[in-house]
Formats: sequence, structure tokens, C-alpha cells
Amino acid sequence: MPENSLASLTQLTNADGANQEKNRQKSIREVFHNLKRGRAVELTPSRQFGIYLHIPFCFHKCHYCDFYSIVDTKDRQRVFAERLEQEIGAAREWFAQPVRSIFVGGGTPTLLAADLWRNLLKTLADSLPLAPDLEFTAEANPETVTAELAGVLAAGGVNRVSIGAQSFDPAHLKTLERQHEPANVARSMDRFRHAGIHDLNLDLIFGVPGQSLEAWRDDLESALALKPTHLSCYGLTYEPNTALTRRMTMGRVTPIDDSVEADMYEHTIARLGEAGYEHYEISAWARPGRRCRHNLLYWKNDDWWPFGPSASGHLNGLRWKNVPRLTEYLDHGPLPRVQEVEYVDPAARSGEALMMGLRLREGIPGDRLERILTEAPNVASSRRAAIDRLIERGSLEWRDGSLRLSDRGLLIADSVLVELI
Ligand code: SF4
Repeated sequence: MPENSLASLTQLTNADGANQEKNRQKSIREVFHNLKRGRAVELTPSRQFGIYLHIPFCFHKCHYCDFYSIVDTKDRQRVFAERLEQEIGAAREWFAQPVRSIFVGGGTPTLLAADLWRNLLKTLADSLPLAPDLEFTAEANPETVTAELAGVLAAGGVNRVSIGAQSFDPAHLKTLERQHEPANVARSMDRFRHAGIHDLNLDLIFGVPGQSLEAWRDDLESALALKPTHLSCYGLTYEPNTALTRRMTMGRVTPIDDSVEADMYEHTIARLGEAGYEHYEISAWARPGRRCRHNLLYWKNDDWWPFGPSASGHLNGLRWKNVPRLTEYLDHGPLPRVQEVEYVDPAARSGEALMMGLRLREGIPGDRLERILTEAPNVASSRRAAIDRLIERGSLEWRDGSLRLSDRGLLIADSVLVELI
């Protein structure tokens, strides 16, 4: 599909609010109805293209979690996996650009049975134009990783795994209502390495109620001892409508002091730097050459196609989200119904590019910053003024020709970035 066809597609979805409303219960095929069937989406050649698959099952709901997941261990796994394969087969006609990254998230992807994973991986390999140097990540919960599953993932092309460790302290795991034992993290890493997957990320959470700076230091040391290639360290957030937030509202848990959380973050930056990890995004650290290509695609506002319930996608300014209800997802195919179809207008798009680009420690090169600002001329002068103000306050800085968050700005990144929208 030529670029101008994509533009007309996006105009179609942005025609007016009523049109967006109408799109709520359509399939993405219907949203694309002005395109001839069988023509592949041609993306701007310089853009990167990936896919995201959402596996919605968990065997327990963690108390801080606001991802779409349902507690349903076995009953609907097979029918779901078959439906997902059907969706992949139906979407292939839109893919012309090689897929450079796949990310399977959830939910708990490693809860899916090994034979279902085997079929899914074969369908992906048979159906989609995968780049020869594909980065293929699966999320894993430590308690669900068997040697058999690790072998199936490695044989099917998965070459990176992101493990939800969160903490190595049983008391903090309990506060978060995580179900694994700390020792499961090392065991799952051993199983992946034995199967041939060596690119391993650990997710960690700091700022857990009751956690001291000392306890967080210990967590970080436990993680470093396992020699992951990548670490993602997030401050705990109290999302609306989660059990943890309800417990906080009822006074059953007390958030830790902001200054302690800031100390934890500063310690993380210093310690991981000393250990040889590159801090390349607010919450992400990698060994040289091990940055997560798929997450970079989000931060650089590139393109990705979503599979599975509640998965969101983005194609050249067009965003959509598959229905976040498993039953509805199972009942309507081959492409799922979508909601929240939206064409991001140039002003919003350049605001997003600013916010996401500044999450990266390398920041935004000066020439790219100019392009981003001129994309939205009506708000360019107010954004320039906001940038000047933030530089004056010491939250942003110029370094090596790029605008980036200063060390001080990093500590209050959310409030800095929001001023640039
Ligand atoms: S395992 Fe992950 S997706 Fe499932 S409930 Fe816990 S945090 Fe949420």
C-alpha cells in the first residue's frame, strides 16, 4: 500500500468523533476497508516494524497489576492459542516490511502449555516475513518456566526472555502478591541458558511498601549476581483500580517516602553504571549491544502490529486497540474487533515524539528536535518556551548536540515530560 493510501486510511478514521465511535466495534479489516484486500501495508522504509502478542492468562492477580489478565489456567488456553494463530494468518496480508522484533507479553506467556507454544511459534515463522536478525522476546514468570518450555521457546526462535523477578525478598514479594520464590529466578535463568537463550532481562520493582534503601541494595546485588544482560528497574506505581491501591486507600499499606524512593533510583543508576550496564532509558539498563530493540521501537515512535485481546498497535500515526475481553476476542474473527481507533494528529504526535525521545538517555539530536517541533507549528513556540524553562531549571540539558534529561531531571522525569505535551 503506498504512503498516500495509508494517509487516506488514517483520515478515514479521523474524520470525526462519530466515525471514531462507529469504529469501536469494527474489525481492523473494516477500518482498513478503503484499501484493496491483499495489498500489504507499506511503511516508511526508515521506520522499524515489530509485533506484539498478548497472552492474557495468569494463575493469580498480583496486587499492583493493571494489565489485562484473567485467572484462567487451562480451560481456554487451547481455544485461545488457535484463535491467535487464526488472527496471525489473517493479518499477514498487511505485512510488507520485515518484522524486526516480536514481543510476547501478558499476562503470563509462560503459562501457555509447551505444545501450544510450539504451534504458535511455527505459525509465526510460517506466516510472517521475519527479519533474519529478528529479536524475539517472551516474558516469563519465574515459577512457570520448565526445562521443556525453555527448549520449545529456544527451538522456535525466541532469543530473549524478560523475567518478572520484581524482588528477591520474600516479604516484598508477598506485599506485591507475587507467587514465586526468589530461588525460582535463578532456576528459570539456568533453564533458559541451558536451552540456548542467553539474552535475559530481569524486571525489578523498587519502592515497595516497607522496603528500606538497604533492602533495595540487596535486591540489586542479588540481581547482579545472576548476570542478566539487561535490567528494567521501575518505581512501584499505585495504579487506579488495583488491589494494592485499595489497600493503600484503606490504610493497610503505606507508600514509602519520596526521598527514599529517589535515593533508591540514584543508587540504581550509580551501581549499575559501576557494574558495566549502560543506562539507556529512564528505567532500562543493558550490557553493551543488548538494548531491547522492541522497546526502542515504542520509545522512537516506530510501528508495531498487535495480536491478542487488549493489545495496542501503531502504524504511522494510526493507533488502535483490540477488544480487551477474552470472550469477545474468541467469538469474533479472523481479525479481532478493535476499539479506541485514533489517528494521532501532528501536534499530539510531535508531543509524543518529544516525550518518548527524552525518555532515552541519549536524548533527541538537535536536528531531529527541530523536525519534531516544526511538525506542529501551532504549538512549536510554546514548546520551545517550555524547553528553555526546563533548561533554566536544570531539568533538561544539551549534551553532545542532543537535548536530554539532566541527572536532576531524571529524578522527576514524569513531571518534566508532561510540561512538553
Ligand atoms: S503475573 Fe504479571 S500480568 Fe499477571 S497479574 Fe502479575 S503482574 Fe499482572
